[in-house]
Amino acid sequence: MRPRMIALSIAAALAVASSVGCAATSHEARKSSLGAARPTAGLLALLDQPGPVELETVNSADWVVERGGVINLDHPTAKAAGLKNEDEPIQVFFHALRHPEQGLFIVDTGVETALRDAPEKSALSGMVRSAMNMEKLKVNAPLGEWLGRQAQPLKGVFLTHLHLDHVTGMADVPAGTPVYTGPGEASARQFLYLFVQGSTDRALAGKPALSEWTYSHEPGGLFDGAVDIFGDGSVWALWVPGHTPGSTAYLVRSTKGPVLLVGDACHTRWGWEHDVEPGTFTADGPRGVESFKKLRAFAAAHPNVDVRLGHQH
Ligand SMILES: [Zn+2]
Repeated sequence: MRPRMIALSIAAALAVASSVGCAATSHEARKSSLGAARPTAGLLALLDQPGPVELETVNSADWVVERGGVINLDHPTAKAAGLKNEDEPIQVFFHALRHPEQGLFIVDTGVETALRDAPEKSALSGMVRSAMNMEKLKVNAPLGEWLGRQAQPLKGVFLTHLHLDHVTGMADVPAGTPVYTGPGEASARQFLYLFVQGSTDRALAGKPALSEWTYSHEPGGLFDGAVDIFGDGSVWALWVPGHTPGSTAYLVRSTKGPVLLVGDACHTRWGWEHDVEPGTFTADGPRGVESFKKLRAFAAAHPNVDVRLGHQH
């Protein structure tokens, strides 16, 4: 091939790579057999009744990301506040759900034990670890250590979405444990996934095919769709697309009242309190704003709901 042809071919390949990217994971996905789509009106009818689930939120690690990723710095409120694209301290959480009949589940996964004890053995590639500013990651409670102290076996993992910082604990989840996520998460394509797909695949190795919630689209509903996970109205998956196509919040009717785990539909306390949506880490900005506004409207209408944000208390 002549040099100009080669240059054109390379340019074309780069263009394809940057526009199409690659899938979040090559791990298989199928529809979930757990949970049934229900109108969100069913959720409202139960919201204020005492719930059966014991809920515990664990701060697995403290970390730092760039503020422009988690807060839209172009929003007029952020500009007026003079927010700069500096380091934003965040936490990497997992949430434990203990249901009296269904057993122990977690929402998201925190970080794996190897990330603290032997990073070279972790599911994360060296390239990903160096891009993650590991020197700024302080591990408090690795998922594996925490699981080792539990009397009950882990029955399943509910993911808010398939970004790497939500599966960094997955390597500590026993092989064979079912993993649930929103629709289209595995096949969602982003340029970033070219670099992290291998790490996500290793974190999911040994687990069954991802089980995707089957939402039925609810135009004009509280959220884009809802799934009653155990069929008793105690734990709901709520479809809040934008950050990723299948982004899912969870509403847990806990023994201490209703708790809303919003995932990365809103990462930060400042963003939530000032009505400023997340920034550049969100794949579909306008759709993300819609979901963010739905979550805030729901919380405003039900002030008894305890809101837990994606990465800050
Ligand atoms: Zn995140």
